Amino acid sequence: MAHGALTTVSSGKLVIKNIGLLLSGDIGNPILDADTIVVRGGRIDAVGRLKDLDIDQASTVINAHGSGLAPGLIDSHVHPVAGDWTPRQSQLNWIDSTLHGGVTTMISAGEVHTPGRPRDIIGLKAMAITAQRCFTAYRPGGMKIHAGAPVIEPGMVEDDFRDLAAAGITLLGEVGLGGVKDGTTARQMVAWARKYGIQSTIHTGGPSIPGSGLIDAAVVLEADTDVVGHINGGHTALPDREIRCICEGCSRGLEIVHNGNERAALYTLRTAREMGQLERVILGTDGPAGSGVQPLGILRMIAMLSSLGDVPAEIAFCFGTGNTARMRTLDCGLIEQGRAADFVFVDRPQHGAGATLLEAVQFGDLPGVGMVMIDGIVRTGRSRNTPPAVNIPEVVAA
Ligand SMILES: [Zn+2]
Repeated sequence: MAHGALTTVSSGKLVIKNIGLLLSGDIGNPILDADTIVVRGGRIDAVGRLKDLDIDQASTVINAHGSGLAPGLIDSHVHPVAGDWTPRQSQLNWIDSTLHGGVTTMISAGEVHTPGRPRDIIGLKAMAITAQRCFTAYRPGGMKIHAGAPVIEPGMVEDDFRDLAAAGITLLGEVGLGGVKDGTTARQMVAWARKYGIQSTIHTGGPSIPGSGLIDAAVVLEADTDVVGHINGGHTALPDREIRCICEGCSRGLEIVHNGNERAALYTLRTAREMGQLERVILGTDGPAGSGVQPLGILRMIAMLSSLGDVPAEIAFCFGTGNTARMRTLDCGLIEQGRAADFVFVDRPQHGAGATLLEAVQFGDLPGVGMVMIDGIVRTGRSRNTPPAVNIPEVVAA
């Protein structure tokens, strides 16, 4: 499946039964009292107990055999370039490998690793539109990739954002990775983008690689992007007082990334919890990056924040699913009727210290991925990348 452009949606009826633990992705109600999901046309049709649901005439039946199930994970921060290749580490099939880490949706923070990327306005617009088209048409393993995220440069005017929106662009790449590094100019352009329905994010912290620069709390707050991109640095974090200043100074999304400072990640988590605003916490990898590709990056963030940040595992899963879906207005990320049937089957790893999936994650172990579905279609069986899970789902009728 690694090389297919799998854009189809399951048209039939699918029943998933014997789910051992159903994680909803909803931070207000993270565990559902249910063991069965019915899917029609690639969307969730019903969730409940097997005895209460209409499961007749299903074209596909999956027996979860007691495995847990969560919404497919969402990586809020990636830098794709072309197909399933990244020039950052000259690596192939990193997207397919990430699918094996339970991720079903990726959001581009800019195609900035493109060799020789254009910095002139017509060029950067053309590149963004090309990326949006390419990643819509070509989905490695079926991965949903929201790409085409232009990085703002000095001289852009309101008409540029109107043109981009009209051409199908819905995201800005990280503010600060281009020539606009001051809060005043960024704020104007971010407002223009928002006016035309384009979401924005910003590079927070010190320079990531030679050529990028510092974006501090004052610039982040003035720019007022929808998401505070890698608030824990990418990789160099701001001082704690500036992180707190951002958390308290706005109500925007607080994105924590794998390719960042882990202590700053935990500081952000604690601050958001003290404020009673854990619904603002979302997860990304910032991969591919200088530190490489992390196919298990989102699972690793969930385990790290749960185990070291003392967050129940079912809440940590919400950071990488429902929180992001709501903030990014995606139709996936939550187990509820009408949402896309994007699922990851997760269970405790073999020979782990945890007796259950949730305990394993709270002990800092990675769960095993037994299957990944996108739009109601099985995209992978047992993951080639995670530790093997104890309970593995099985297609029993198709
Ligand atoms: Zn960055």
